[in-house]
Amino acid sequence: MSYGSGAVMSVPGHDERDHEFACKYRLPIVQVIARSGDESPYDSARWQDWYADKSGIVSVNSGEFDGLDFSGAFNAIADRLEAQGKGERTTNYRLRDWGVSRQRYWGAPIPIINCDSCGTLPVPAQDLPVVLPTEVAFEGVGSPIKKMPEFYATTCPGCGGPATRETDTFDTFMESSWYYARYACARNDNAMLDDEADYWAPVDQYVGGIEHAILHLLYARFFHKLMRDEGLVHSDEPFTRLLTQGMVLKDGSKMSKSKGNTVDPQSLIDSYGADTVRLFSMFAAPPEQSLEWSDSGVEGANRFLKRLWKLVARQLEFPAPELDVAALDARQKTLRRKTHETIAKVGDDFGRRQTFNTAIAAVMELCNEVGKLDEDKAQDRALAHEALRAVVLMLCPIVPHISHHLWQLLGGSGDVMHAPWPATDESALERDTIDMAVQVNGKVRAQMTVAVDTAKPALEALALQQPNVARFLEGVTVRKVIVVPGKLVNIVAN
Ligand SMILES: [Zn+2]
Repeated sequence: MSYGSGAVMSVPGHDERDHEFACKYRLPIVQVIARSGDESPYDSARWQDWYADKSGIVSVNSGEFDGLDFSGAFNAIADRLEAQGKGERTTNYRLRDWGVSRQRYWGAPIPIINCDSCGTLPVPAQDLPVVLPTEVAFEGVGSPIKKMPEFYATTCPGCGGPATRETDTFDTFMESSWYYARYACARNDNAMLDDEADYWAPVDQYVGGIEHAILHLLYARFFHKLMRDEGLVHSDEPFTRLLTQGMVLKDGSKMSKSKGNTVDPQSLIDSYGADTVRLFSMFAAPPEQSLEWSDSGVEGANRFLKRLWKLVARQLEFPAPELDVAALDARQKTLRRKTHETIAKVGDDFGRRQTFNTAIAAVMELCNEVGKLDEDKAQDRALAHEALRAVVLMLCPIVPHISHHLWQLLGGSGDVMHAPWPATDESALERDTIDMAVQVNGKVRAQMTVAVDTAKPALEALALQQPNVARFLEGVTVRKVIVVPGKLVNIVAN
């Protein structure tokens, strides 16, 4: 009765509750929708599925509406009722009425005045905000301001007679529904709407727990649209992008105080530093998935940071010359490409995919490559310098403290937090050679590295020369050679 008009639609053939009711009172069950081509006899479980899945169903046993699909029948029935003046189309919102007042002292005061003659009136705008007294005496469980005439006694803005101020306060849901808009214009005492608010709102990225995913976000959208209609904000939606972060698990179950299975990050911060704990948390899982706490994972994160520290320390021992891109050999070009591929990947992982764990993994891989460089070679040292500066910039959002320090050791100017994101050098991404698979009758039999600009006939010849390919071609005739540029060569033989 509380939903929509309160009228109850009876479809015992296609609704679980109606079906139960009809069975109990032995009411006839009439099929009114059918899946085209499905002639099988009465089956309430299957019929109810049809009601949920509206695709491919048509009305039956419905007189003039027979044979119409879902939207066809919906419109025809609505048109008919409207034409007869018996009903009209309407949208029902599922947002329920919500009691916003709480019998608590500590909350945002509800700016309402109660007058015996005038009823409830809003506090006049010039008297806002209503400020809660902070000198209060708690007695028992009631709100102390209910016993404080110096707070509640006031004059009615309507008749000027004696009146009382509302002593209930707003539920916290009330503020959490619109605080983001106020944050965007915190310096403006008079209004919500200014250039600053328009610059910051709507929120680009909302990060919240799953417990907020329904009610809070629904309320926030409701408030935002109210504020929009009142001219307080210019945007239509409060948030552009939502990331619902996962929970932290310990031995497979949710960490909670009541279970007593929480891990105090402070002891880990004391032993390893905040950077290690942050790195572990970001590396252990994608942010929307649950994270299984692991002490060995924390140690692993710490080992990586120590390795990074050592790599930078080596740099300082053997200073690097200017990088001379033209002088790089193939091996060095490969390392430089790795650096710039990593910059591109990490930027995408942070900005678009929001998979911080794969970003960290890519940086770790790059550090492994840096560790293999030959510090006796001047350009190797230059490459390591370029790569390590990029590593520090890429890791700085996750491990700010060590990054701050390493950035300065590497000769970076200013604070790393203010340094720009490293730029991808597109020319470094270009490849001189590519790896191609060679297949015989669709099965991979060899891999070959070829120059990027190798012509088709040369590719075919190279493919046929691969020793393992030659082995599979013994005693058969090559019928056809298919080249998929940049990927593979497939030899068809029998
Ligand atoms: Zn009054």
